[in-house]
Amino acid sequence: MSTSKYCRLMHEGKPVWGQISDETIQILEGDLFGQFSIADHKVALIGTKLLPPVTPSKIVCVGLNYADHVRESQSSNVVPQEPVLFMKPLTSLIGPEETIVAPPQSQRVDYEGEIGVVIGARCKDLSPEEVAKNIFGVTCVNDVTARDLQKKDLQWTRGKGFDTFCPVGPYLVTGLDCKNLNVISRLNGETRQTSNSRYMIFSIAELISFINHIMTLLPGDLIATGTPEGVGPMKNGDIIEVEVEGVGVLRNRVQRNG
Ligand code: MG
Repeated sequence: MSTSKYCRLMHEGKPVWGQISDETIQILEGDLFGQFSIADHKVALIGTKLLPPVTPSKIVCVGLNYADHVRESQSSNVVPQEPVLFMKPLTSLIGPEETIVAPPQSQRVDYEGEIGVVIGARCKDLSPEEVAKNIFGVTCVNDVTARDLQKKDLQWTRGKGFDTFCPVGPYLVTGLDCKNLNVISRLNGETRQTSNSRYMIFSIAELISFINHIMTLLPGDLIATGTPEGVGPMKNGDIIEVEVEGVGVLRNRVQRNG
């Protein structure tokens, strides 16, 4: 299957979609999830500041979806019988090369490298087989987590919801095989997480079908599909990278004030 690579950027004062070919961004006109055309504008990829390549109505996240991460997270070794869901606010979204700001309320802010999946069309109650056809594309997500606050709380809105806690990008890529995708995280250039979607407890299609039997999903909605083993803390000045095979490298710097 052929792949296409999309990004978002500011162009003539407006956020727009672009399609990447080689080192060039072709500006698109219209709705990426509906009708669009290639406009008569190009910009160089190098030197262009990219926005998060998603326009979701909601960000739905899955916790504890790799057995090795379940083991490192809990004293018990109980694998969830159903997907564990939570949400991140849209105000947590940042793009590639933007700064993750560690808040003063937390002493431990962790990276979580994840495969992000973007929905193609409005849907409800789809089976896993139907959902697989309704995936528009894949991106990289860092589910940044205030681990100390997450552990204090029964639900995770606080620990997962700070501004800048959802870096996404650099691209949204269509035509990848969600059943077999590598995901890697590097902290200051050193590999910390390395896994593949085939090691998920619930497959991407099963996860989205489960979510879709709860809530209507809209075109552009973002699903963060869980992190593998190897999560860890970030300190001021650290560079965290999340790479999903076929997508590219999402790179962000960490800032802690005080
Ligand atoms: Mg996560």
